[in-house]
Amino acid sequence: DAYLARIETLEPHIRAFLTVTPDVAREQARQADERRAQGENAPLLGVPLAIKDVISTAGIRTTCGSRMLETYVPPFDATVVQRLREAGAVFLGKTNTDEFAMGSSTENSAFGATRNPWDTSRVPGGSSGGSAAAVAAAEAPAALGTDTGGSVRQPAALCGVVGLKPTYGRVSRYGLIAYASSLDQIGPLTRTVADTALLLSVIAGHDPLDSTSGQHPVPDYLAALSKADVKGKRLGVVREWLDNAGLHPGVRDAVQTALATYESLGATLVDITLPHSEYGLPVYYLIAPAEASSNLARYDGVLYGHRAAHTEDIWDLFAKSRGEGFGPEVKRRIMLGTYALSAGYYDQYYKKAQKVRTLIRRDFEEAFQQVDVVVGPTSPVPAFKLGERTDDPIQMYLADIFTLTVNLAGLPGISIPCGFADGLPVGLQLIGRAWDETTLLQMAHVYE
Ligand code: GLN
Repeated sequence: DAYLARIETLEPHIRAFLTVTPDVAREQARQADERRAQGENAPLLGVPLAIKDVISTAGIRTTCGSRMLETYVPPFDATVVQRLREAGAVFLGKTNTDEFAMGSSTENSAFGATRNPWDTSRVPGGSSGGSAAAVAAAEAPAALGTDTGGSVRQPAALCGVVGLKPTYGRVSRYGLIAYASSLDQIGPLTRTVADTALLLSVIAGHDPLDSTSGQHPVPDYLAALSKADVKGKRLGVVREWLDNAGLHPGVRDAVQTALATYESLGATLVDITLPHSEYGLPVYYLIAPAEASSNLARYDGVLYGHRAAHTEDIWDLFAKSRGEGFGPEVKRRIMLGTYALSAGYYDQYYKKAQKVRTLIRRDFEEAFQQVDVVVGPTSPVPAFKLGERTDDPIQMYLADIFTLTVNLAGLPGISIPCGFADGLPVGLQLIGRAWDETTLLQMAHVYE
């Protein structure tokens, strides 16, 4: 009730939610009380959560921030949602997102932008900006987001909360409405690293319904935090990221202060280089739109979502339904991706991008020969003003310059608050070895 009341008070200013579900929440809370009365001790019994609106929730509208799915009510739960229900969670509602998770500010939502709780003239980041803002404004104690190129970590940084993108395959994508299938991962946004560890333990693990989910055993991440020890740990500092001309000086200072703190706690700083990371942006913006153009082909006005009225024939139905249902950024990505995959250009663009993706992955493999964790800024800048970057897609794409390569390499990455620049929160990004979320969470936890 306290969270629902807070949502009601703050939503006119923040607009983190696309759908608030008080009836669902109260019923789940009642069931949680019952389960507790029967002696059950599930890990999230009675814990309220917000869920990004690209994750399917049975019986609860799931829009992807798009007119295309404005009235879509999934008949089934995503695996993560199923696991949260079993763990006893209480669903407060579905959070705002850039349309189909394409964006870095939540301004690409068809239903209006979310505001950053630290300064409501600024963006919360994106695409999981609704989830990050909800947690930052204490409209929810924790939330789920999704991260294809930075969409959990970057809004976490801009809103001053913790955000984790797990290793590709750590968390089932079944029921996550696909953007770019080889990059998408679901991850928690929380106020503390301990909360992220707890949520990850609940949602992680193999799922027979997602063939890309890994068989690796899921450790008790929360229990592991008490064994965290920085002494002797080697932190790789990415030189080209700290020297990047687009890096805000206040962000650089905050990150450098955090690095000094780690050093004083007993860690060793090691300069490393990721020579192919400079190609991360072009590689990502070939691969992600290519996969998106294929995934979004299903929205044809027949099976799913918006259907145009008064059409002449089937082709007219496809064209008008898609023309009306999708917003400008989604159309841009579909055109880019279709072009990159087309005969004659495939080798030159998509295939080439896949090769450079391998080089980017190898850069990290080499770095992890020398260090335990790679560190750097999450976002080059603190929260920017609403409207500041909407006219220039490249400026918007640059918001994820330090996060995209982590998805291309399939690695786990976390953003934790590390101070302020211009009075706005700054995020420190830690990147770990594949499947080793434990070390990553431990290293993040000691900094808190
Ligand atoms: N900003 C990036 C994009 O628009 C990343 C988004 C995401 O991680 N979902 O593709």
